[in-house]
Formats: sequence, C-alpha cells, structure tokens
Amino acid sequence: MNETDVVIIGGGHNGLTCAAYLARAGLRVNVVERRGVAGGAAVTEEFHPGFRNSVAAYTVSLLNPKIISDLQLYEHGLTIVERRAQNFLPHPEGRYLLTGEGRTRKSLETLSPRDAARLDGFNRKLEAIADVLRAFMLRAPPNLVDGFGVAAIRESFNALGSANILRRLNLEQQRDLLDLFTRSAGEMLDEVFENDLIKALFGFDAIVGNYASPYAAGSAYVMLHHAFGEVNGKKGVWGHAIGGMGAISEAMARAARQAGAEIRLKASVREVLVERDRAVGVTLENGESIRAKYVVSSVNPKLLYTRLVPSDALPGAFRARIENWRNGSGTFRMNVALDALPSFTALPGEGDHLTAGIILAPSLGYMDRAYHDARERGWSKAPIVEVLIPSTLDDALAPKGKHVASLFCQHVAPELPGGRSWDDHREEVADLMIATVDQYAPGFANRVVGRQVLSPLDLEREFGLLGGDIFHGALTLNQLFSARPMLGHADYRGPLKGLYHCGSGAHPGGGVTGAPGHNAAKVILRDHRALFG
Ligand SMILES: Cc1cc2nc3c(=O)[nH]c(=O)nc-3n(C[C@H](O)[C@H](O)[C@H](O)COP(=O)(O)OP(=O)(O)OC[C@H]3O[C@@H](n4cnc5c(N)ncnc54)[C@H](O)[C@@H]3O)c2cc1C
Repeated sequence: MNETDVVIIGGGHNGLTCAAYLARAGLRVNVVERRGVAGGAAVTEEFHPGFRNSVAAYTVSLLNPKIISDLQLYEHGLTIVERRAQNFLPHPEGRYLLTGEGRTRKSLETLSPRDAARLDGFNRKLEAIADVLRAFMLRAPPNLVDGFGVAAIRESFNALGSANILRRLNLEQQRDLLDLFTRSAGEMLDEVFENDLIKALFGFDAIVGNYASPYAAGSAYVMLHHAFGEVNGKKGVWGHAIGGMGAISEAMARAARQAGAEIRLKASVREVLVERDRAVGVTLENGESIRAKYVVSSVNPKLLYTRLVPSDALPGAFRARIENWRNGSGTFRMNVALDALPSFTALPGEGDHLTAGIILAPSLGYMDRAYHDARERGWSKAPIVEVLIPSTLDDALAPKGKHVASLFCQHVAPELPGGRSWDDHREEVADLMIATVDQYAPGFANRVVGRQVLSPLDLEREFGLLGGDIFHGALTLNQLFSARPMLGHADYRGPLKGLYHCGSGAHPGGGVTGAPGHNAAKVILRDHRALFG
C-alpha cells in the first residue's frame, strides 16, 4: 500500500489547483484521475481528425486572477485572449444585437434608444453586486456549527467578515442583492428593458447550466454568477484560452507537478477507505490502495457520497439529504468540424461577430418555451444554442482554412421522460441543434464535416457529471454559499474526519474558477498546521 499526505480524487481543474497549493506548501500530494487526460470538464481533445476543441467547458472568464498569479499559469504556458466582440444575437427577422467594448450601446440604440439609455444603469447595478460576490469567491462562506467550541468562534469571525463585506453595499444595493438572489431574471429584465434581444443577452446567462425558465425564481442569481468574471483585468469580459480550455488545466498540472505533486491518469477511485469515522485513503479500481492523512474529493458530492464512501460510514441524515442533491443542468454539448465559416443572414460574411458567443435564442419567451417543451418532451422543439467558433481566435485548432465550433445547447431533460434513453435519441437531437443553427446561418449544416455529441448521459459517463450537471449541482439558493454542499459542511470539510471537498460542488460552485480548489487547500493547510504545527 502506498502512503502519502494527500490523495485528491479527480484531476479536474479544481483538483489540480488544490494539488498545486498543497504541494507548494510542502505536502506530498497524489492526484488520481479516472480519465486518460487531466482537466475534467476543462480539456481540449481531437474530436475529428485534424480538429481539436474544448470538449466541454468552452469559454473563460470566471478563472480567478489570484489563482492565475499564485500558480504562475501564464509562466506555465497559458495565454488568454479576448473575443473581438463579446456576443452576437441574431434575430430570425434579420435585426441583431452585437455587444462588446464600445459596441453594445451603439448596437442597442438601433433597436431601442430607451433601452440604450437604461443599459449603463443596469450594468452598474449588476457590477456593484458582482464586486461583492468577487470578495466572497476566495473565502469559505460562514459555516453552521453545533456548540460553542473553537469552530464556533472561528465561524463567528467568518460571519463578521462576511457581514463587513456586505456592508460595502448601501441599503438600496442590499435590496438589489436580495432581488438577485431570489427573483427571476425574466421579471427583473422586463422591468428595465423593452427590447427582446437585450433581455435575451442577460437572460441567456440566467439559464446557462440552469434547467429552468428565465422566469423561474432564483434564475437572477445564475445571471449574476456569470457576471463576476474577468479577462486580463477587464471585468465581465469572456475570452478564449489559446489551445482551448485544456490549456488552463495543462498549466495547472504543470504548476502542481513542478511543486512535487504526482498526477496519475487512468486511476479511478472505487472506494474511500474509512477507519473509525476517519477517511484514511482510497482504493482504486485496479485494487491498489493509497493511504493518506487527507482525502480530498473534487467529484460531484452526490457521486462521492452515494458511490465512493461506504454508506454505513455516513450519518443517516447526511446520506438522506445528499441523495436529494439536485443535479441536471439541461445541457447538450456538441463540437463540430467546419470546412468553412458560417454566414449569418442577419450579418452576412466574416467579421468580429464570428469571434463572439453567438446566442440563438431571440427572447425570454423563447427560452421559457424551450424549458417547458423539454420538461414535456425531453428536449425543446426550438432549442437555445450558443455557438462559439474558437478557431477565429486560435488558428491551431483546425487545419488551415477550416474551423471548429462549440455548440452549447439547452434545454434538454437530464433524463428523458417515459424511460427513454439518451442513447436512442442522441443523433436525432444533434441533428435538431445543427438545423437550428442552419435557420440563422443557411448552409451551416452542409459545412459540418465531423461532429462530437455529448448528451447529459454522455457527460455523466465521460466526466462523472451526474445528470450531465455542468456545475456539480444546481446553483439554487438551497445549494449555494453556506448550503454548498450542505449546511454544516460549507467549510470544505466533509462529515468524516480527514475528508474534504475541493470541486464545483463546494462554494462558490461551478465554472472554471479554481476557487473551490484554492479554498479547500487553505482549510486543509490550516488543519494540518493545527495537527502537526
Ligand atoms: C458542457 C459544459 C460546458 C461548460 N462550459 C463552461 C464554460 O464555458 N466556462 C466555464 O467557466 N465553465 C463551464 N462549464 C463548467 C465547468 O467546466 C465546471 O464547473 C468545472 O470544469 C468543474 O471543475 P471541477 O474540477 O470542479 O470538476 P470536474 O472538471 O468535473 O473534475 C472532476 C474530475 O473527477 C474525475 N473523476 C470522476 N470520478 C472519479 C473517480 N471515481 N476516480 C477518479 N477520478 C474521478 C473526472 O474524470 C474529472 O476529471 C462547463 C461544463 C460543461 C460540462
């Protein structure tokens, strides 16, 4: 049996981040990753001969700048470039909205001068709250603890610190914060704007990875979650990692290895070893065991506690609650190889709009129908598709003159109604997604020379994303902050001694942020010092 200080289950970008921080602090760290490549949902792979793309996560903004700097990700080979335009929203009737630095207001003026005049005010409101959320990204949320011991004292200080951050907001901004945590994005957007496309721009962020209508309570938070990022110091901007999202994970893996961490691929954990209420290591599928002082999981919490930790090792109430952890983000993901760039009816030919996130969902009503349709039939007759063509910013992804596109599609049911299997409907739904793009860019379907299709079931099988949930659990109020993954365990410590959470199922949740990995490492190091000085 091997022995180490830390074994990390899963080499996704959060597992790698956690590994890098712990190894830099001098701990012996072993990462065990089930797949043949590290990075989890942030990987780049060849999906068609000569065509490479980010397989799952496809665009960068949320990656925390402190983590980039601490782990020297740029020195380890990462380059992030901005899109030349941020978003392009074509309307089936031919008008469009094109956003980005110096563009959004001008473009919106042609659609609604009234909305253009209101845009800055709305952005300022969102930005003030996003700034406060940024301050919460790299700290554990206040955790609920029983009794009056050291942990209670520590958490009271944490709660005071959190209250101090919130005090940066004036009363009106605190009211906005409450709205953004509890209300629907749709209602809030309808109150401010009249034009469908500007509402769809913000509304899309409210349903990304959120299997819900933009009129569902709580969807405003998901909109906010997508607003707290930045690229190269520019807040709220989305960009592209040269080489695809895998370049982020590769840089993290280099940082971790350089600090001494060992990353083992094709090493799937079968079980967490538990002795006298303490996690003491893992057993791999090949029967090998690794003993460790600290077992750190980056996998979906429901996967960890229902498949890897022996059920009799867990308190019954904990186990019952985690079984109801809500997974399923309504996502269907495709990568397509193109023999030429598409041309959109609303703005024909090449241009900066082809570097943008192209949102095919022209109104909140369209998104609402897409959700209800998917609930009823399993997928939307008229789905929501974001098209991104990263090869317009990164010519190494495809052969010269050819392109790759990511299609991020919603809404589809995590599990199909009537007991049907995604294995029987994958290709049919993929055809629908391509036909949807073809409606806005005629000829697109004929330009597709290869495709990779990932249904929710494929996302689960390939990446361990239960129900295809891109965030390791819905970003609903009962699964956020002090409740992520459960009240009493928001401090990255699990219900067994020596067991920690470092993946997206912990605060601050999903996205390629590195934040849960960073925060968990801090807690583990604190516990290590308390035990060993
Ligand atoms: C389709 C899709 C699109 C997305 N788009 C974006 C985007 O554009 N931008 C963005 O910021 N975020 C996006 N996200 C969200 C983001 O990618 C994830 O929230 C994030 O990558 C999760 O990172 P993680 O390290 O917490 O977990 P993961 O990346 O899920 O890593 C967990 C790792 O654990 C491994 N594992 C599972 N079971 C075992 C086991 N038994 N033993 C060993 N290893 C195991 C898995 O193989 C995986 O590598 C997207 C996600 C998906 C799926």
